[in-house]
Amino acid sequence: MKLSNKLKQIFTLGKKYSWKKPDKCPRCASPRLWWHGFVRRYFFKFNLPLWIRRCRCPECGHVFVIRPAGFYPRFQYPKTVIFACLIYFALTGKRIKSISRQIQNYWTKGALLQINRFNNSSRLTLENILYIHLKQIIVSTHSFKKNTINSAIYSPYRFFSVTKAFTFT
Ligand SMILES: [Zn+2]
Repeated sequence: MKLSNKLKQIFTLGKKYSWKKPDKCPRCASPRLWWHGFVRRYFFKFNLPLWIRRCRCPECGHVFVIRPAGFYPRFQYPKTVIFACLIYFALTGKRIKSISRQIQNYWTKGALLQINRFNNSSRLTLENILYIHLKQIIVSTHSFKKNTINSAIYSPYRFFSVTKAFTFT
C-alpha cells in the first residue's frame, strides 16, 4: 500500500487503526515489545495530528514511536518532498511553489550545514546532497548530534523508522 494511503487510514481510523508490532527492539534487539500508548504527530498534507502508536521494550526500557520509513526522524514532510525541494533548488536556484518557502529555507540551511561539516564544501550541489545522503545523514537537519538516520535510537520518545520498509499494517 502506498505511504499516503496508509497515513489516510491512520487518520480515518484514529486509535482503531490496526498497528503491527515491530519484530524487535531497535536498541537491544529483544523480540518482546509492549504497546505503550499513542502520541499525536503532524504529517505533511494533514491539518490535524495523527495518532501514532508507541512501543516500550521491557528488557531495556526503550520507548519509541513507530514511524513510516518514508520520513526522517522529527520531520513531518516525506523524504521525497525534502529531496525534491533541495535538488530543485540546487539545479535552478528556485523554490517549489506548493511548499512553504520558510520550510524550504530551513532544509537548505540544514543541508548546507551538513555538507559543510561532512564534505568540507559550502555549495549545495547534487553531488554534495548525494554524498551526505549516502553517509546516512539526515540531509535537512540542523543538528550535529542527532543528524543520522539512526541517531534517534539513543533518544527515547523520538521518532525514527523501525524498519527499512514501511511495514506497519
Ligand atoms: Zn530493548
